[in-house]
Amino acid sequence: MIDTHAHLSSRFSEEIKIEDLDYVILAASCLLDSKDNLELSKINKKLVPAIGIHPQEINDDFATLEKLYDDRVVAIGECGLEFTDEVNEVEKKKQIELFRKQIVMSQNVNRPLIVHSRQASDEMLEILGEYKNLRGVIHCYSGRKKRIQKYLNLPGEWYFGIDGNLTYEIGLEEVVKNIPKDRLILETDSPYLTPVPFRGEKNCPEYVKYVYQKVSEIWQMTFETTERIIDDNAKRLFNLV
Ligand SMILES: [Zn+2]
Repeated sequence: MIDTHAHLSSRFSEEIKIEDLDYVILAASCLLDSKDNLELSKINKKLVPAIGIHPQEINDDFATLEKLYDDRVVAIGECGLEFTDEVNEVEKKKQIELFRKQIVMSQNVNRPLIVHSRQASDEMLEILGEYKNLRGVIHCYSGRKKRIQKYLNLPGEWYFGIDGNLTYEIGLEEVVKNIPKDRLILETDSPYLTPVPFRGEKNCPEYVKYVYQKVSEIWQMTFETTERIIDDNAKRLFNLV
């Protein structure tokens, strides 16, 4: 099992239980997270770092992010667009600018993108469609069924990240049924989105097994087969051995 999206920054002193997992991809929301992820990856080789700046952190400096990059980094993100009602036009422009810089960076360093998209699907599809040969994951995919095909039609190679809310949001089952089996990866988004039966508590990477379990029920396949398919996807996308 692989948790392809967890926020574990600043949790150096805590014991992070990951014995059951092959890897945990450490997603970054800001420069501080990015630095922490690189440090955490030294503790355990199963912890693999991403670096990136989330659209809510538009004041973080991109040039500093670029300098943080080294060979250990498996992905750029999470980055993207968050166009909630409180975000004004100037901020939207800044988000787009910062996102484009991270897209170009991902091309330059040949690493996939971890994309955060909230209330910005049309803009997201338009921007991603402008670049050739991008690869990445639409993290915590909550778009409708009908948008899945639009992402699949983009140039490049796109995956869908599904989280613990699959265990309690009925509509997401239909979404999962419509994602091609070779384009699905699973995440916890720890410490958020805790799956049933631990909903309401703090999430941790090992709870990704409940998301695997749910997918195996939806696919009507054994846990082992489900795990093999999904782990192959994650290894292909993030170039893990
Ligand atoms: Zn996240």
